[in-house]
Amino acid sequence: MTEPRDPLSRPLPTVEMPLLRGQVRAARARRAALLATAGLGLAGGVVLALVGGGEGDAGPEGPELESAAPEAAAAAPREAPEMFVATEPEAPEVPEVPEVPAPAPTIEDESGARRFETTFGQARGFRPALLAAGLSDDESAALEVALAETLDFRRCRPEQRIVYERAPDGRLLLFEYHDQPTSFVRAVWGDDGQLRAERVERELEVRRIARGGTVRTSLGDAIEAAGLGRGVVGVFIEVFDGKVNFSTQARAGDRFRVVVDEERLEGRFLRWGQVRAIEYVGARAGRLRAFYFEERPGRGDWFDEDGRQLRGSWLRIPCRYDRISSPYNPRRMHPILRRIVPHNGVDFAASTGTPVWAAADGVVSWAGPKGPNGNLVSIRHEGGWESHYAHLHRIQRGIRRGVRVEQRQLIGSVGSTGRSTGPHLHFGLKHNGRFTDPMAVLNGPGRLLPPGPRGRFRRERRRLEAALAEVSLGAAPTPEPDEPQADEGLD
Ligand SMILES: [Zn+2]
Repeated sequence: MTEPRDPLSRPLPTVEMPLLRGQVRAARARRAALLATAGLGLAGGVVLALVGGGEGDAGPEGPELESAAPEAAAAAPREAPEMFVATEPEAPEVPEVPEVPAPAPTIEDESGARRFETTFGQARGFRPALLAAGLSDDESAALEVALAETLDFRRCRPEQRIVYERAPDGRLLLFEYHDQPTSFVRAVWGDDGQLRAERVERELEVRRIARGGTVRTSLGDAIEAAGLGRGVVGVFIEVFDGKVNFSTQARAGDRFRVVVDEERLEGRFLRWGQVRAIEYVGARAGRLRAFYFEERPGRGDWFDEDGRQLRGSWLRIPCRYDRISSPYNPRRMHPILRRIVPHNGVDFAASTGTPVWAAADGVVSWAGPKGPNGNLVSIRHEGGWESHYAHLHRIQRGIRRGVRVEQRQLIGSVGSTGRSTGPHLHFGLKHNGRFTDPMAVLNGPGRLLPPGPRGRFRRERRRLEAALAEVSLGAAPTPEPDEPQADEGLD
């Protein structure tokens, strides 16, 4: 993303005249804002990576959990986006090439401190980058030691910024390495005269915004047309699971509204945060509303208007998926073997790295590779239930046999390990040792908030309802009459 630059035509620094403090600050803010803009690309990439095709299991013969037929591996290859792809579009700037002499100070404030800025550039390592930036041998060595714990030198990228300041006598006053949109690493002098590194989080500004739209082709397209991340689709599917099936019951003319947190950095959009309220009014689906509420700090969930949890004590869907690529089917005719080979679970197509959550509270009974299941986590629950999560890309650190987990706790990420042709989660459920269909069994009503939190919930709900009401979308769609039931059971 960085502009290709000819190392021979080295541009001169932008500012060589002393600046007033305010101007220095403005210049810093401008740079930070540019950095934040670069972060926008990242947010978009992550959101888009959550949707897209997936594949089913491969392998004809029945391992313990998996006995699915090979399925179309139709998805385009999806790759995880770069951790952070920053650009520094503000040209001209100091060179990126290590061979050139140290950069001239870009800004000098009235105290005489000089500020230097450059990028990691094409340096072959962290120390060479520091030397190329104009730091001395001793300083570079000390910085490398101080930052070793805080910064992963192998992840340094050419466009990341190196910033430091020197006193008029040449002393190093400050060193910063800007590697992430929301934070950077700073080295400071301790009382003992040693350099110490700390990660400094930038202050995110969170704005609650409301948007809405009308469905023309699909909910996903409508959400995108409203300028929202496509990941919001997953929230609708997950929260209204069991109440509406968007792939069969969405109609052109249906409307939706969303209240969502927008995270901003230095006054610019960074990424979408927590979705707070969703509403869907459909000709077929009827009117649905859900509100996000934190009963305890950090433990939020979705509730209906009365304060009843929408998802019960089990998650039927333990990851944010794109589609069900293979349902539970104990009498599935194998397309190649031409005999009945059961599919002992549900396959959720999702991209590699998508978080997988524990479907209910329980104790981990297996965590590790297990033959065709690939990386497998199994959890034993009360009442003779056991849930299984197969083909994981990674198992979350700390998830091992005997560990207690809570519902919705992160246990790993979607992958394609074991006998699998593409990234998906195989979710299996056993009751007293026998496989059952999770989608049919796990749909009990959720619990009602107890009186104390329910009062808090009502106040929060009123605020969110007011925010939803700010989005005007015209007339509601006319409800469709119930579908005729006459032809039921004819085939
Ligand atoms: Zn499967």
